[in-house]
Amino acid sequence: MKFENRSGISFNLEHNNWLGQEKFIIAGPCSAESEEQVWETVKDFKKSSISAIRAGIWKPRTRPNSFEGFGEIALPWLVQASRNVDIPCMVEVATPAHVENALAAGVDMIWIGARTTVNPFAVQQLADCLKGINVPVFIKNPVNPDLALWMGALERIDHAGITKLAAIHRGFSSGKRLIYRNEPRWEIPIELKRLAPNIPLINDPSHICGRIDILQNIAQKAMDLEFDGLMIETHFQPSSALSDAEQQVTPQQLFELLKQIKLRSTPQSLSSNENLEQVRQKIDDLDHQLIHLLADRMRLSQEIGTIKAQNQLTIMQFERWRSLVIDRLKTGNELGLDRDFLLQILQNIHQLSIQVQMEIFESFKDQNP
Ligand code: PEP
Ligand code: MN
Repeated sequence: MKFENRSGISFNLEHNNWLGQEKFIIAGPCSAESEEQVWETVKDFKKSSISAIRAGIWKPRTRPNSFEGFGEIALPWLVQASRNVDIPCMVEVATPAHVENALAAGVDMIWIGARTTVNPFAVQQLADCLKGINVPVFIKNPVNPDLALWMGALERIDHAGITKLAAIHRGFSSGKRLIYRNEPRWEIPIELKRLAPNIPLINDPSHICGRIDILQNIAQKAMDLEFDGLMIETHFQPSSALSDAEQQVTPQQLFELLKQIKLRSTPQSLSSNENLEQVRQKIDDLDHQLIHLLADRMRLSQEIGTIKAQNQLTIMQFERWRSLVIDRLKTGNELGLDRDFLLQILQNIHQLSIQVQMEIFESFKDQNP
């Protein structure tokens, strides 16, 4: 059965809920570094109902000459540890050879990393080699904040016939100096969930935060946004880790973090809450009012466009736009509205208004060539 959304993107509905009802927790080291390191990290995972063990085998590093993973020889360290605790394991794959080696060694699930998702050639090669192999595949968001690229990678793997597909949100490169290693840009995974509601969504707070002091906060936020699970980098001795040492937690810290997470009510129980329903009703009303106001606003743009065209005036008058923005931001400030939020809305309205007016100018040209 296929799910078709507004953008014409279709996914197998079988992806629905394949992770189960409980939150799906993936934990394990950034990289598999030795048989002992993997074992010491995961040996107590059973106690805390970890759903899957992760470890990097081939590491995509920004610079050459940094630790690039132990490769194939590390696969049995992970697979053996996973069998011992009876929890499935997963590795990152970037090439068909990685897929073949990982599956031959007994790895249960694979994920595609952020640096691979950006490249449709690489994703297609993985899709081609996955045809006929029904292994669960997780796809991290691309490094850059491009939802279409993420969707495209999900589609390519879906079209290869994979029925257990999930997305991992690990944040986006921003070029800004932020407290995060990768900016969360929550609106992007939220939009992904709207467009592809049947694809489970996991949050990776480790790669978003790049540090451990704000990990709890991000993990909680993901749970409050109804994500289906978490991927958390865990190392029995983070300070000696060969990659991502600053962001890994010990198994004890992981268990504590999971214990602290508050799982708030599910929508089913919320819908019976009267207060919530009343506020939702008000929100619905206001949203409709906003849409009507926007439609009125665009009609005025058409009107003013006609006047300008008739009087041979320019569409854009920068001084008017400048003073309009100052005026609206002042009102917004008085009402306690976030400045950037309001500015973005004004810019969007203005952009569409210019477009509408340009169309009117074009039609005048046609009538009076
Ligand atoms: C990782 O999970 O260790 C990793 C390299 O992640 P990402 O692809 O999100 O950078
Ligand atoms: Mn890592």
